[in-house]
Amino acid sequence: MIIDSHVHIFSYPSFRDLSKQIRTMEDAIAFRTRYPDLYNCNLTEAPIDSTDELIADMDKNNIDFALVQARAGHVSNDLVAQAAKRHPTRMVALARIGHDQEAAGYHDDPGPAREQAPAELERALTTLGMLGIGEVFVRALTDKIHPEKIANDLSGVMRVAEKHKVPIQFPTAWSQFPGGLFYGDPVWADEVAGRHPTVPVILTKMGRSIERYFDTVMSVAMRNTNVYLDVVGTNPQHLRFAIDKLGPERIMFGTDWSTTWRWLSVPATLHQIRMKVLDDAKLTQAERKQILWKNAARLFKLDALLDGAQPRQAKHAR
Ligand SMILES: [Zn+2]
Repeated sequence: MIIDSHVHIFSYPSFRDLSKQIRTMEDAIAFRTRYPDLYNCNLTEAPIDSTDELIADMDKNNIDFALVQARAGHVSNDLVAQAAKRHPTRMVALARIGHDQEAAGYHDDPGPAREQAPAELERALTTLGMLGIGEVFVRALTDKIHPEKIANDLSGVMRVAEKHKVPIQFPTAWSQFPGGLFYGDPVWADEVAGRHPTVPVILTKMGRSIERYFDTVMSVAMRNTNVYLDVVGTNPQHLRFAIDKLGPERIMFGTDWSTTWRWLSVPATLHQIRMKVLDDAKLTQAERKQILWKNAARLFKLDALLDGAQPRQAKHAR
């Protein structure tokens, strides 16, 4: 059994084939600045459902189940919920807020977005049946730089997570999108996680193999037992270190599959790149199980869903 805990769905007509523009990770990072007109489609074109491509990639790479969330741009939680419901045995949806700003640039005044966020999350977690909160790019909700002030500004969304007992993801390190790099060093997340100890706080990408960010991620995770990590962009040394310090119960497999990242093809597919990190970190069988599916199943309460699902392979050795 493999659960991909980190997937972004929806695409745009102009992104249908990016095989020439995106081959390496460097291509993906530089996509926005190298092809500004093409990138702009995030903002000008109507989003199209990419879950059939996702299922094809999951099948090719033996991924059983995915936690999916909106990609950057004007992809509503309603669209994501509808798309996920087309594949009820293979995926379930997470809510997002502020991802329109992630693509378009952050508002000078984050106040209105911050005020609207709790109600939108409440709606997504009830009416739309979403099971958690996907990556929150913090600058969409605050322009503060002091950890306690950032935590004040995030208190509305954290209270919704608390009420519904669902995890929330915060990205670490860099992203391909404009602005907000300051918040990729998650020292502020210590204050947020400390104030809300019942909320699982997932620091996605665990610093993306950059020592400076990884050191902060580890410091925050070691002080707060409600902090979890995912393996997107990490390397075998960091993964091994994190498992040895935190235990394998606090780390989840994820790919960051999206309409742009799925084109990474040199020297291997996105899934193979992520899986090789697990192989090279020399995980035990027990560690593999925790990271590949058990932790995601526990945190997002997927057991009933997974039991009811018709597994892709007839019999899973769960
Ligand atoms: Zn992501």
